[in-house]
Amino acid sequence: MTSKTADLDLETRLIHAGKQDHHGAVTTPIFQSSTFTTPPVISSYEDIRYIRLNNTPNHAVLATRLAALEGAAASLVAGSGMAAISATLMAVLSPGDHLLATDCLYGGSLALLTEELPMMGVEVDFIDGRDPASWERALRPNTRALWTEPMTNPLLQVLRLDELAKFARAHELVSMVDNTFCSPVNYRPLEHGFDLCVHSATKYLNGHSDIVAGCVSGSKEHITRINKRLTHLGGSLDPHAAFLLERGLKTLAVRVRHQNALALEVARWLDAHPKVTQVNYPGLTSHPDHEHAARYFEGFGGVLSFELEGEREQVIETVMSLDLPMFAPSLGGPEALITLPSLTSHASISAEQRRAIGISDTLVRLSVGLESARDLIADFERALTAHAS
Ligand code: PLP
Repeated sequence: MTSKTADLDLETRLIHAGKQDHHGAVTTPIFQSSTFTTPPVISSYEDIRYIRLNNTPNHAVLATRLAALEGAAASLVAGSGMAAISATLMAVLSPGDHLLATDCLYGGSLALLTEELPMMGVEVDFIDGRDPASWERALRPNTRALWTEPMTNPLLQVLRLDELAKFARAHELVSMVDNTFCSPVNYRPLEHGFDLCVHSATKYLNGHSDIVAGCVSGSKEHITRINKRLTHLGGSLDPHAAFLLERGLKTLAVRVRHQNALALEVARWLDAHPKVTQVNYPGLTSHPDHEHAARYFEGFGGVLSFELEGEREQVIETVMSLDLPMFAPSLGGPEALITLPSLTSHASISAEQRRAIGISDTLVRLSVGLESARDLIADFERALTAHAS
């Protein structure tokens, strides 16, 4: 980040950081060209401009802008959140290494850690991110890195983030955070001592439910290594998706702040409803991790989960009777999305395994969009009045 950019507020960086002049166009045009003319003598392979090498003008502006948002020396964009995650882990870890990861991860990451990494000779162990006293016991002489997410999905438990960053530093582990649920508006891991920050940019960063993308931020050295892996694996971002991501980023701060306020209002309303037996949202003062969340985060995010009275069939009927939230996985878009994690994100594990991690078959997850609180709550009011338990 240049010192000039560092002086700008986040809202301004979202719009101006890294912008380049292209014939006076006020937005970056889409450079829909797979390859670019190259000088006859180049100093490295990366000097060739080619979409898969992630270095067209559409990639370059995003990389600079994301670094300015995260307070990072460098960033890169990738073809999906999972492309960013897999390239990062493969760049940081080598055969024979041991990875510590907090439990309750996004299902795709969990599958990568438990199914792919062992095939590459990397051992993985899980720790409870809310129990610092237990972490030392999981260390081995070959432990190299730590993988975590700030909040668990779908229970929204908040991990001991400052302690995790400190633990990683003390044991010389490369610390990596999947910050998708928070977005840089609510939490910037690099400012809290973590080494690498990864996002599924499909969610809040793009914010319009219309592309799949990912990104990673950190030191120049780390990002250069990760970019090399990414180009070998072929997980680059298409220029049209890069254009949409740049457009989406411009409104990130206003969107996320609306979603923070809307989720808090809906959470409070649900919490007071007699047919709602439990609400999980770290913005509620009754949430067991509220104090930690208030210390780390600038906002509590747009996702909450809750339990209704009654059996699964009745819960599904009520959820399906809502007019506004659409029954779909994912989060961070302009429209409210609602799911039962037991039917979507956590469907691949058994009911017993789900119960063991606190996810019942009736738990409902809501990602609020950009609707008004009045309309969203009126929709829930109508559905819950009719809800039979
Ligand atoms: N990380 C988190 C926390 C997610 O929720 C998701 C997707 O839901 C991903 C990573 C994967 O992102 P993508 O679908 O963009 O590959």
